[in-house]
Amino acid sequence: MKLLEGKNVIITGASRGIGTGIAQVFADNGANVAFTYSSSEAPALELEKELSSKGVKAKAYKSNAGSFSESQELVAKVLEDFGGIDVLINNAGITKDNLLMRMSEEDFDKVIEINLKSVFNMTKAVQRTMLKQRKGSIINMSSVVGVKGNAGQANYAASKAGMIGFTKSIALELGSRNIRCNAVAPGFIETEMTAKLEDKVVQGWRDGIPLKRGGAPEDIANACLFFASDLSGYVTGQVLNVDGGMLT
Ligand code: NAP
Repeated sequence: MKLLEGKNVIITGASRGIGTGIAQVFADNGANVAFTYSSSEAPALELEKELSSKGVKAKAYKSNAGSFSESQELVAKVLEDFGGIDVLINNAGITKDNLLMRMSEEDFDKVIEINLKSVFNMTKAVQRTMLKQRKGSIINMSSVVGVKGNAGQANYAASKAGMIGFTKSIALELGSRNIRCNAVAPGFIETEMTAKLEDKVVQGWRDGIPLKRGGAPEDIANACLFFASDLSGYVTGQVLNVDGGMLT
C-alpha cells in the first residue's frame, strides 16, 4: 500500500523547483495531484502529462495564489474535478531581494502578498471541505530565512516568519477537528530561485552547510510526504528544518 494512495492533494506553484519535486514524489506514492502555476504553462502541462502516466489523476491550473478570489475559484474547480481535498501544500513563493535602503514599498508588498497572504487565501478556501471531512493536512513552505533572518531579504524573511505564526495558529484552531498544520523550512535548495544567485554566494552557502551540499527538491518532498501521510498523524504545529544542518 502506497503512503498517499487515493489522497487528493493541492500544491501551489508546482511548475518548477520544489513544487515539481513534491508533485512527482506524491504521485509516486499514489496521490492524485492538482497543482498550480502562475505563468509557466508549458512545463506545467508537461508535468501534468508525466504525473498522469504514473496512473494517478493530475491536473494543472493557472491560478495566482496571491489572489483571494482566484484561490476560491481554484478550490471550487478542484473539488469538482477531484471530489475532495485531503492535503494542501502552500508552496508558491517569490523573492525580490534588496537591502532595506533600496527596497521599494511595491517589492515589500508583492512578496508578502504572494508568499504570506496566499497561505491565508488557500487555507481559508479549503477549510470548509476539511472541516466537513474532519480530516486534513496543511503544509506551509517556510524557510530557514524565516527562522533566522537574512540581510537583503527583509521582505522574504518577514513573509516566511509570518507563515510560521500562521501555521501554529491554524494548528491550534483546527486540531480538534483532526486537521493538522505544519511547516517545512528548507535551507539552501538548488532550484531556479537559487540559480539567480552569484556563484560566489552559492559556494558560500554550500561551505556553511554541515552536510556540505545544497538540498534537492526531493529532500523537501520527502519531508512533505511525512507531514501529508498518516505517519505524522500525531504531529501538528511543527516547523521541520530541512537544511543539511544549517541551523544547528
Ligand atoms: P521556484 O523554482 O522559483 O518556483 C516557484 C514556483 O511558484 C513556480 O512554480 C511558480 O510558477 C510558482 N509561483 C510563483 N508565483 C506564483 C503565484 N503568484 N501563484 C501561483 N504560483 C506561483 O522556487 P522554489 O525554489 O521551488 O521554491 C518553492 C518554495 O520553497 C517557495 O515558497 C520558496 O520561498 C521556498 N523555499 C525555497 C528555498 C530554495 O532554496 N529554493 C529555500 C527555502 C524556501 P511559475 O513557474 O508559473 O512562475
